[in-house]
Amino acid sequence: MERYDVVVVGAGNGGLVAGTAIAQAGFKTLILEKHNLPGGCSTSFVRGRFEFEPSLHELCDSSDNEGDMGMQSIFDRLGVKVPMLHEKNLLRAIVKGEGGYDVRLRAGYDEFLDSMEEAVPGCRESVKKYLDLMVLLNEAQDYMNNGVPNPATLMGKYGDFVRAASHSNDEIMAGFGIPEKAKNIIDTYWGYLGVPCDDLNALHYLSMIEAYIKKRPAMPYNRSHELALALVKAFQSYGGEIRYNSEVTEFLYNSAGAVIGVKAGGKEILARKVVSNIIPNNVFNMSDETKIPKSAVKLANARKLGLSFITAYLGLDASAQELGIEDYSVFICNSPDTRKQYEDRLNFGMYVVNCLNIALPGASEEGTSMLFFTLPMMPEDFPADLKAEDYKKYKNDYVRRYIEDYEKTLGINISDHIEEIAIATPVTFARYLSTPAGNIYAYSNGGWDNVVLRTVFDNIDKKIPNLSFCGGHGIRGDGFSSAYTTGAMTGEKVIAELRREM
Ligand SMILES: Cc1cc2nc3c(=O)[nH]c(=O)nc-3n(C[C@H](O)[C@H](O)[C@H](O)COP(=O)(O)OP(=O)(O)OC[C@H]3O[C@@H](n4cnc5c(N)ncnc54)[C@H](O)[C@@H]3O)c2cc1C
Repeated sequence: MERYDVVVVGAGNGGLVAGTAIAQAGFKTLILEKHNLPGGCSTSFVRGRFEFEPSLHELCDSSDNEGDMGMQSIFDRLGVKVPMLHEKNLLRAIVKGEGGYDVRLRAGYDEFLDSMEEAVPGCRESVKKYLDLMVLLNEAQDYMNNGVPNPATLMGKYGDFVRAASHSNDEIMAGFGIPEKAKNIIDTYWGYLGVPCDDLNALHYLSMIEAYIKKRPAMPYNRSHELALALVKAFQSYGGEIRYNSEVTEFLYNSAGAVIGVKAGGKEILARKVVSNIIPNNVFNMSDETKIPKSAVKLANARKLGLSFITAYLGLDASAQELGIEDYSVFICNSPDTRKQYEDRLNFGMYVVNCLNIALPGASEEGTSMLFFTLPMMPEDFPADLKAEDYKKYKNDYVRRYIEDYEKTLGINISDHIEEIAIATPVTFARYLSTPAGNIYAYSNGGWDNVVLRTVFDNIDKKIPNLSFCGGHGIRGDGFSSAYTTGAMTGEKVIAELRREM
């Protein structure tokens, strides 16, 4: 029977980083991936003469402070080099109707504050105070990530963190006296975390937008698949083995309830430690239920699944300039209020359209351009009774409405220029990523299940001996950088356990 020090299940962002760190430390490591290629969300696909980015709008936190858990420093430690492009603008937010606005926000600390002041005169000081809160929150977060936090130290040294950590983003902004319109503009990115800002943890939201603002939105030059391929190359250079077309179908346990390996392709593979890049719900469904602690099952059942999307990828036979497209990222909303945007999510509440050619002019052939429509949808919104024969019509009609709305809002014509179009729905994501109900943000970050409490209760995951988790379902929530961070943290934890047990 085959034996490894570590088997990693899934070659998504989290699994690739964890596997590479563990292989780099000299342990015999195997990554099992159900697809014929690595990356999970971090991938690309080709239609005609276009190579589309299926997921990444922009990476936040390409921080490179030595030793931290930001993406660049993780990649540096792993010896992974991928040149990154940094966008100079954050987004254009268009809110239609009463109280509407059309605002462009620039990246960079001063540039952001200047663009906020231009949009809402007099808001600069209050917005600055809100942003600067992140300096303290970063210190507290580093402290929380370095072992079990001491409540007395937390209350004494990081009292403001403790106070802020239990509040929603909107509560904290109100506390700083940020004017309503400025608050609404700052809230625009809520869709990247999938929870309206009256319920979204302030620390979580602030850490995301602070990274976008200060470090600027980042992306690789050759679609996110470039990131996955670079990680695989590093993993293999450290002696790691990766197997594709290898779906794990069972997690194996000993009589004491410790994980001892997995089954893939009908074969048992033993390991001292197993790292799961796949969501706990799926792991539990592939396990002998008597081996799963009740608390872990209860937690998985209590959690709400996060956002999914309908996405549309358009290859156009004209350049962005010819079509009159000016921005990389446009958020189009029918109300300034994120709660209303969320509630109206099936009816133009909020959607995002990206044109990669604006950020990266050579992204497709000269005289062409690409658009990426991201239309939020909760997993339960997808019609459960939709018949297979009606699926195509449903998704085509759904996307057509949004293309028309985009054309009307921006006063441009793209319908006559569509050379290629591909549409993904929660069904696509369920099949491709194997996530429950095709959700892509794993567990919702709303209410009690926020980044702070996840950190505090992280030991629930550890209750199954020899099994660790990493990825978008982890303590940091969804996103490329969160998946890399939890991959790196899990890698370190597993290496320490293996060394202790030698
Ligand atoms: C449309 C879309 C837009 C997004 N936009 C952004 C964005 O702009 N910025 C951002 O930061 N994040 C974005 N995200 C989120 C981000 O892509 C994810 O949160 C992150 O990549 C998840 O990484 P992960 O490590 O959890 O792995 P995943 O990408 O979920 O990969 C898991 C891997 O496990 C494999 N697998 C599953 N089951 C098995 C099994 N039984 N056996 C073996 N292998 C298995 C899968 O094939 C997959 O390769 C977006 C995602 C989507 C889909």
